[in-house]
Amino acid sequence: MFLTCIIFTLVGCSKSTLNMNEEATSNVKNDKSKLQVVVSFNPLKEFAEAVGKDKIQVTTVIPEGVEPHDFEPKIKDMKSISDADLFVYSGFGMETWVDKTLTSIDNKNLVVVNSSLGISPIKSGVDEVKEHGQFDPHIWLSLKDAKIQTKNIKNAMVKADKKNEVYYEKNYEEFSKKLDKLYSEYNTKFAGVKNKNFVTGHAAFGYLCRDFGLIQNSVEDVFAGGEPTPQKLKKIVELSKKYEVKVIFMEELASPRVSETLAKEVGAKVQKIYTIESNEDNKGYIESMEDNLSKIYDSLK
Ligand SMILES: [Zn+2]
Repeated sequence: MFLTCIIFTLVGCSKSTLNMNEEATSNVKNDKSKLQVVVSFNPLKEFAEAVGKDKIQVTTVIPEGVEPHDFEPKIKDMKSISDADLFVYSGFGMETWVDKTLTSIDNKNLVVVNSSLGISPIKSGVDEVKEHGQFDPHIWLSLKDAKIQTKNIKNAMVKADKKNEVYYEKNYEEFSKKLDKLYSEYNTKFAGVKNKNFVTGHAAFGYLCRDFGLIQNSVEDVFAGGEPTPQKLKKIVELSKKYEVKVIFMEELASPRVSETLAKEVGAKVQKIYTIESNEDNKGYIESMEDNLSKIYDSLK
């Protein structure tokens, strides 16, 4: 308990220079009344908060703006998991550090949630195995799989905090309705377009593509392993021309220069797309997905 107070005091202080004592006091109160949930990275925070709302307090292990694929937890992360009621991770090799971390902490009451349970994995392409491992881990970018992840989180919250079961169930139903609505809207839209190919920087949209029968062509794969060979560059330029690609998508962490060069070559424009691996532009999950889907749809129709 004492340790928890210290951690939250530190977190509070690093975020603002406001009255320290006041913040520390209010956090102590929160600690007692709310379910303490630690999540590995941003999309799981979104899903946990959609279900738990004001009954939970969420700590995210991977900080904003940090590339989650290369992350290693620090001692303070171990401490927050040690003090948590619930620990949620995405799975399919997204968090390579999970097994080691969980064996090194001592918290017998911790409810651990592998949010990928029940989702059928997509195998990684040959070029991606080195970065992503055996499976493509980007399940949260599928509205259908996001629903399964959220359900797994909801079930764990009910298990850890039975008295709020009705509340968690109700919030889960509301959130999953939003996911279903967005899915059916775009399922109809994408069914009506002939061209299913789009080009993007980071190969993060495999599960989104599976939802809607789309095909992602990724710049990053082409550029993996250093400078692109002229042959590889030629291949993606040809592909972009063949499918009359009007937009080259890029993610926050991809090199804009590379996307811009490619876009210039094929006469396309560059547009930003959200991997939601970190919070971007202050948009929530549904908002970011709406933005992604409308941009992809506009580029295909
Ligand atoms: Zn990724």
